[in-house]
Amino acid sequence: MSASVPEPGSASPPGGGGRIVVTGLPVAPGLAVGTPVFHDETDIDIPVLALSADDVSGEQRRLATAIRMAKKQLADVEQNIEREVGRRDARIFSVQGLLLDDPAFRKAIRERIATRLVNAEVAVRDAVAAWSDRLKGMGNEADRDPVADLRDVGRQLLRILAGRPGRAAASAVEKAGADGSKVILVTRELLPSDTATMDRRRLAAIVTASGGAASHAAILARGLGIPAVTDVDVSSLPACGGPWIIDGGQGRVILNPQPEDLDQAVRQSQHYHDLREELAARASGLVRTKDGVAVEIMLNVENFDSVHPEMMSGLRGVGLFRTEFLFMERRTFPSEQEQYEYYVEALSQVGDAEITFRTIDVGGDKPLSYFSLPTEPNPVLGWRGLRLSLQWPDMFYTQIRALLRASAHGRVRILLPMVTMVEEFRRARTMIAQIQSDMQVHGVPFDEDVPVGAMVEVPAAALAARDLGEEADFLSLGTNDLSQYALAVDRNNARVASLYQPLHPGMIRLIKTAIDGAALANSQLSVCGEMAGDPDSVLLLLGLGGRSLSMSPYHLPLVRRLISAITLEEAREVAVQMLELRSTTEIRAELRGHVLRLVPELSSLLAPI
Ligand code: PEP
Ligand code: MG
Repeated sequence: MSASVPEPGSASPPGGGGRIVVTGLPVAPGLAVGTPVFHDETDIDIPVLALSADDVSGEQRRLATAIRMAKKQLADVEQNIEREVGRRDARIFSVQGLLLDDPAFRKAIRERIATRLVNAEVAVRDAVAAWSDRLKGMGNEADRDPVADLRDVGRQLLRILAGRPGRAAASAVEKAGADGSKVILVTRELLPSDTATMDRRRLAAIVTASGGAASHAAILARGLGIPAVTDVDVSSLPACGGPWIIDGGQGRVILNPQPEDLDQAVRQSQHYHDLREELAARASGLVRTKDGVAVEIMLNVENFDSVHPEMMSGLRGVGLFRTEFLFMERRTFPSEQEQYEYYVEALSQVGDAEITFRTIDVGGDKPLSYFSLPTEPNPVLGWRGLRLSLQWPDMFYTQIRALLRASAHGRVRILLPMVTMVEEFRRARTMIAQIQSDMQVHGVPFDEDVPVGAMVEVPAAALAARDLGEEADFLSLGTNDLSQYALAVDRNNARVASLYQPLHPGMIRLIKTAIDGAALANSQLSVCGEMAGDPDSVLLLLGLGGRSLSMSPYHLPLVRRLISAITLEEAREVAVQMLELRSTTEIRAELRGHVLRLVPELSSLLAPI
């Protein structure tokens, strides 16, 4: 419940009233100053039409097209959130995708069109309302916000049917922030897909009337680092021009702030920002634990939109460049020359730092629209990653030639995905050597010492990491796929999402075996899956012997802060303790307890476990 408290005796700024503090529910921490923009789009105006029986099939086709478009939009949002924040938050959108695929939900809409002879918009609106009533109170751990998700999906369908597939809340923020000002979005309700598609350079904070701390929009706001307060009676807020102050940690909205409020807010938000960005630590590539042990930090990227060149300063470089995104964003295969130019451009962004380019990792959950893969009963266990490259050498040769040519312009490492057997690695090495000798013969310049490494993401390869480490120049532990295969849980299937637990005791033993194996082989191993960016897991990884982490830029500040605040001895003790626990829930809770004990200031920055 919100309370407006006009402060007695506070001076009125020109054109506005006195200082007003409105309290709500704090759902995403952080302090922000910005100009409020009121936006309301809870109900979309829809046409209400009476159909004749002849219109029904046309209307069903309109619906089917809208569902297809909505699925495509959701897949895009999911991919962006996975890249920027991580798989855990991106899963919200696979849950929404499942709803669109749900035969019963589709049937509920189609039947309304066919039997009530109403247009698709009315059928969607009514089906969503009926289903919302049924779903109320059914949220569980894996799917905490089913009604909001359903409404979100319904709203996306209605927008598409109305010919306005864009997102109105995002456009309102973009318009208001066009002059460079920071915007506070004030709205009755913000749905997850709206939160995910906002321009984060313009959006300073969010104030809403509904949506609790466990709502998907709130989870995303926390993941994206956008302060948010909810449970505020937004309709009673005066539409004064601002600036306003939002304190997402305390759940406060300050209208007509005094100059000293603003000073303090600016200072505190700077502090919060610094905490996130760890600007100071950029000067040194090696982050050290409190007792001086060096931990190497690298970044995971797919393209350079999300990376500022200055961020690279001092880092070893990019530990995982997922090149498949270059292939997936196009309609045809990029030629050798196109790839070469793209890789050279990427290298030019990082100066002296190195880039570990992972060769194309399509197949399984990453399809290529212009390359029809055979239908396989178990695609994730089938033709993907290096398996596909080895069986389709044309694509591999083209990419390796482009990468080797690019190596004349910067520090390149080549990383092979989904290596299962040393034989595969040897074959790929031989092919690379053939390309190198061919380039030598033709006088094409390249770096002859380009290291070639292997992803360790298949459980058997993790158990045999020592063997692979003796063959490869370096190893990269992909905990995302490793978890999927070790736990037998499809990483993209929302139905089994609650079982996707990288902190399972078995996973911890597997990771330990891989780290120990690499050490015995004297091979560099870096961890590049999501665990490398998750502070709770990082504490464990360090304790298990991990000394190199590659993560999405978003996670860098928190991980740096954690590492510099703990000693290796502490991390080792934690790891020993974790190896004795039997339950994932206990492991997660214990790790979080240790992280907060060792670095209490992270408490406002970590997502709830
Ligand atoms: C992994 O599997 O952990 C990994 C880093 O690769 P991707 O997420 O691209 O499959
Ligand atoms: Mg992988």
